Parts: sequence; structure tokens; C-alpha cells
Amino acid sequence: MNPSIEYGESLDYVHWKFKYNTSDRSFHDLVKRLNASGVQIKSQDQVRRYLNRLLGIKMQRVDCCFNNCMVFVGPDLLRRRCSLCKEFRYLGGEDEDAQGEFYNDISETSKLEAKAYFSYLPLIPRLRLLFANKDYAHTLRYPTTLENNPAPETLHDIWDAEMMKRWKREGTNTHCYSD
Ligand SMILES: [Zn+2]
Repeated sequence: MNPSIEYGESLDYVHWKFKYNTSDRSFHDLVKRLNASGVQIKSQDQVRRYLNRLLGIKMQRVDCCFNNCMVFVGPDLLRRRCSLCKEFRYLGGEDEDAQGEFYNDISETSKLEAKAYFSYLPLIPRLRLLFANKDYAHTLRYPTTLENNPAPETLHDIWDAEMMKRWKREGTNTHCYSD
């Protein structure tokens, strides 16, 4: 079967999942129920691999606190428990012998199962794909359109804000974010 037909309906459901920020767990349950009732939908992992093959978009899995307080990234990547509510990050975390604040190394966590996580499609590859589409690329030129038709004394939206103008002048937003 043509992959675009084979995955077409499944892509719609994954789009719906991201649009409404549905959890991985509830989406997995939805797919199971649909398949049981005769509507054959691919799992999120299958769609993820398909998009990766087709577009080079790699979905990232990010652990988060079971109570939604925080995500385990950056300086919190090796954190054993939520820094706010103190919930253990991994199933069975309470039973571990060592109970320091952080794991020593990412390899210590490779076989552990997070109590909660979410999937994230990185922004840069998505922007590249949008710019590769003629219609979207035209829409994304909106800030340039504003620049070419200046209306001093008027504040249209965020693109007229002082910080946006400053970041554009400086080239990037490197002062606030880094990988
Ligand atoms: Zn928490």
C-alpha cells in the first residue's frame, strides 16, 4: 500500500493529539480502542518512525514529573525526584539504594521507566518544513510585510515590540536561550 495512504488517517489522529495536547498514555488508549472497534490506526511510535523516515523529523521523548510540576531537561536532566513536589521520577525509584539528589550518569537511567513523559517535535525541523511549502512560506513572511509597511506610533502585535526589534537587530535570541 502507498505509505501516504497507509498513514493518512493515522497522521490526522497524531495531528489531533498534538493540537489538543493529549497525553501519550491517553492517545495509546484511544488507538487501542479504535483498533478494537475496527478502525485501524497506527501507534504513535509507528507514525513517529514514518515521519522520521519521510521528513527527517525526530520526535524527542522528555521525562516530566508525574504531577506535571517540571520537566527533566538541562540542569535537571539527571534529577532523581521532582524539585518541587519531591515525587520520584522513575517507577521503583523509591526502592533504589542510593538516594542522592541526582543520578551520576545518564547511563544509570537508561533501563528505568519514567512515571510520566511527553513527546516533543523539535521546532527547527518543523519551521524548515513550513518554509519549504510555498503557501506557508508566504504566510511566514508576515513580519517582513510589517517591516516594509511601517506604521510608526502603532503597535500591531509582538513583532512591533522593542525586544523583538532588538533581537532582530542583534541577529538571534542568543541571550535568552541555548541548546
Ligand atoms: Zn512534581
